[in-house]
Amino acid sequence: MNTETISQKNGHKLNGFTHEDIGDDHLFTSLETPMKANAFDMSNNEKKNRISILFSEIMDVLGLDLTDDSLKGTPDRVAKMYVEEIFSGLDPENKPKVALFDNKYQYNQMLVEKNITFYSNCEHHFVPIIGKAHIAYKSSGKVIGLSKLNRIVQYYAKRPQVQERLTNQIANELKTVLETEDVAVIIDAKHLCVSSRGVKDDTSATVTTYYGGEFNTPEKISELQNYINN
Ligand SMILES: [Zn+2]
Repeated sequence: MNTETISQKNGHKLNGFTHEDIGDDHLFTSLETPMKANAFDMSNNEKKNRISILFSEIMDVLGLDLTDDSLKGTPDRVAKMYVEEIFSGLDPENKPKVALFDNKYQYNQMLVEKNITFYSNCEHHFVPIIGKAHIAYKSSGKVIGLSKLNRIVQYYAKRPQVQERLTNQIANELKTVLETEDVAVIIDAKHLCVSSRGVKDDTSATVTTYYGGEFNTPEKISELQNYINN
């Protein structure tokens, strides 16, 4: 990022606050991950090359000796990890292709897939968010392979994220692919930017929820909580 874009960023206000005012408070601006219009002009190889150069620069500025055998491969490793692994969910090409099946068993109660472990990264600090997602839906006549529920969670987790957006992005995707409003998403996660730095609270966890359609009643919510807690 050149100095001009940095100073523009400093002048930008969110709800009347600059990002210095906001500090560690995790506000976010939209349900869509904010992406540039030309986000995919560069190939993945070009992105990896560029990130590797820039990451070497960060290490160099920190005073690390990049000729050291243990450190010299780090910029390439970080670049590959960013593009191919932990931020691969930025690329719509990697979105799971979902096939729906007819609900042959006529199962018309809720289906709950619980304890889906995911690893994401906080978009404000670029350190891990580690959590579990619990998903429920009620079939509109179509059903989805169970592993796809897991894959949808992993896809949206592999982006710089805030937990509220992650919750809503998963819910929106489920509503679209399952062709129903009757979906619920509960995420219980630990943010390393809270536990390993900043306020250094190692015991807190953050819970976010989305209850759509029929799930948005006190009875369904408590039924769902019951399944998840047992
Ligand atoms: Zn953070």
